[in-house]
Amino acid sequence: MTPKVIIIGGGIGGLTCAIACVQAGLEVELYEKRTWEGMVSGPGGIFIQRNAMSVYEKLGLAKALYEKGGKIKKGGFSNAQGKPLYINSPEFVNCSDLGVCLGRPVLQKLLYDALPSGIVQTNKKFVEVKEKEEKIEVCFEDGDTTWGDVLVGADGLYSQVRVSLNADKVLDPPVYSGMRCWRGYFNPEGINFNPEYTWMEYWGKGDRLAYFTIGDGQRSFYAFDNVPLESPRSQPGTRKSLLRQLFKHYSSPVPQIIEALEETDIYEDNIYDRLPLTPVWGKNRVTLIGDAAHPVQPSIGQGGCMAIEDAYELVYSIKTCADLSQLAQTLRQFEQYRTPRITQVFESSRQISSLGQLENPLSCQVRNWIYRLTPTWLGDLQFKWLFDYQPSGQYSASRGNG
Ligand SMILES: Cc1cc2nc3c(=O)[nH]c(=O)nc-3n(C[C@H](O)[C@H](O)[C@H](O)COP(=O)(O)OP(=O)(O)OC[C@H]3O[C@@H](n4cnc5c(N)ncnc54)[C@H](O)[C@@H]3O)c2cc1C
Repeated sequence: MTPKVIIIGGGIGGLTCAIACVQAGLEVELYEKRTWEGMVSGPGGIFIQRNAMSVYEKLGLAKALYEKGGKIKKGGFSNAQGKPLYINSPEFVNCSDLGVCLGRPVLQKLLYDALPSGIVQTNKKFVEVKEKEEKIEVCFEDGDTTWGDVLVGADGLYSQVRVSLNADKVLDPPVYSGMRCWRGYFNPEGINFNPEYTWMEYWGKGDRLAYFTIGDGQRSFYAFDNVPLESPRSQPGTRKSLLRQLFKHYSSPVPQIIEALEETDIYEDNIYDRLPLTPVWGKNRVTLIGDAAHPVQPSIGQGGCMAIEDAYELVYSIKTCADLSQLAQTLRQFEQYRTPRITQVFESSRQISSLGQLENPLSCQVRNWIYRLTPTWLGDLQFKWLFDYQPSGQYSASRGNG
């Protein structure tokens, strides 16, 4: 018998998981609490890096992503005056690109469109799960229920599925990174970019700003600043002047990027993570993927990529589970299999954040010297393990044989 998978959350992880289920021949339903328009929206752009692109290659979506986005080629970190600190290019992993950058709404819509109609139901807020014999009953805020064999919580940082697994029905607050972030799009016309680079992140003292190509002639930006959690949030309409002030010591093209921003399109967020759950993320026939299980800081652009990898590997595990009575054990094996990689991404993300957000002028100078004196091949080594990821075999094969 084919297991029926219920997914909560229509973000990158949930939609990718649903696509993988369809391709693996599993029955699947996905429930999203937001409206359809809300689900296919999102602030700024996102890097879908080589490791996650390997998943989309398996799922037959890579071509569509390349068509809609901008290829990640040469790019890296510079100081605030634009002097390169570390530049990498796709050749270091023998590829012609390191993935693709897209506007979040474009990616969400592309993933949604890859699913047969009827699988995604919006305006459906999950509230709790009840396990009954070998089945799970999933309950929504509007009183509706559905049944399945496996429940996947792909419902992000404040996962209600994760809450429902805790005996006290409480989720500890996430850990504030000390960083506030702004992101959005801009029209690059008239800005003098170095044509060699498709992305660049400029590091100052306690702040950073980056741009990247997202296809269709557009670019996206993000910026971070060290801000105490209790510091009041800025009001829409004041953000451009805030960024102008924050990055006034930076050289071209940073000031030009800020001038090109649309005031109403600048999103502001505090950045959080959580210590990864190791090695068990779920319980019985319930598991978690993506930010629901392991939100990471965005400094190496891997949170969404991990959700994509999780989605593929989870479906692979379910598909290759020969005996449905072993599903719970299969889910624990999936979690255990993913834990070391997730932990490494979590640690690297925190490490790059703390380097990028150094504030003390002397420490910043030492950091910059070390980066500039480090041979590129050595810098590349710290990321190679990430990009070398290969998804498990085709859905009909067993792990390790694919
Ligand atoms: C500034 C910034 C930059 C980033 N840049 C990158 C990058 O370049 N590359 C990268 O890979 N990652 C990046 N990330 C991380 C990435 O955005 C997240 O890791 C990714 O979105 C997680 O996907 P997800 O599907 O797990 O969760 P989410 O995208 O959070 O999706 C969760 C979904 O669940 C829904 N939901 C929540 N509760 C319920 C409920 N009770 N019932 C039903 N539905 C529910 C939500 O509405 C949402 O649609 C960045 C993050 C930040 C903050």
